[in-house]
Amino acid sequence: MSTSDRFQTDDCETPRLETWRCDMKQRFGPRVHIHFTNNRRSMVSLQRKPGRVTVLRIQKGFESAPAAILEDLTLLLAGQRGAAWTRVCAYAKTLPVSGPPLHADAPGRCITRGQVFDLQEILEEINREFFDSALPTRITWGQKKPSRRGRRNSRSLQFGSWDESLDLVRIHPSLDDPRVPREFLRYLVHHELCHAARPPIRNPDGPRKIHHAEFKALEARFPRHARMEAVGKKLFEQITRER
Ligand SMILES: [Zn+2]
Repeated sequence: MSTSDRFQTDDCETPRLETWRCDMKQRFGPRVHIHFTNNRRSMVSLQRKPGRVTVLRIQKGFESAPAAILEDLTLLLAGQRGAAWTRVCAYAKTLPVSGPPLHADAPGRCITRGQVFDLQEILEEINREFFDSALPTRITWGQKKPSRRGRRNSRSLQFGSWDESLDLVRIHPSLDDPRVPREFLRYLVHHELCHAARPPIRNPDGPRKIHHAEFKALEARFPRHARMEAVGKKLFEQITRER
């Protein structure tokens, strides 16, 4: 249930933006979420509601933005709009709108309806119940891979992940099964959305902390959270046995 390995690659793709995001984290803390997208239509969006988390999504093309534009983005996070917003939008219009997606897993390819469960329905439910519908995160079933027997593969089974660069939750397709309690999927989606709401903390001189204290406090709001962990362990054993 950790964030996926792909994150590492995206870190390298936009090093300048990553550095800027680290600065913003230090300055604004968990009140601000910044996502880098491959979007070709919406280059920049800002969700800001009084007393709630501010979510800024910018296209990765901002990697080559002039320093003044990054300063304008900082002003937006600090609560200003006006001239800073106008300049950011003017810059966004200069970014390329055609060409192949920067990422193979481009937005728009989400598969949410399974044989048994509709992930979009579950996502909206959890977002509404626990996050005031404030998270722009998307969801998809993961890709079905040919089954490979062997212990190493069994141990690598991951029920869910949150991809920070795409702000996308992926759920393992083996969970689209009538034997899986719907409540477990709700628990899992909640867990991954907690990652989106409380992203990993980057220590300049240490490893990234993924399940940090703030994350755990948020996750504990899910009712019967410990019971769901036990259900997850049982399902894990059942599914890895069958693979
Ligand atoms: Zn996790």
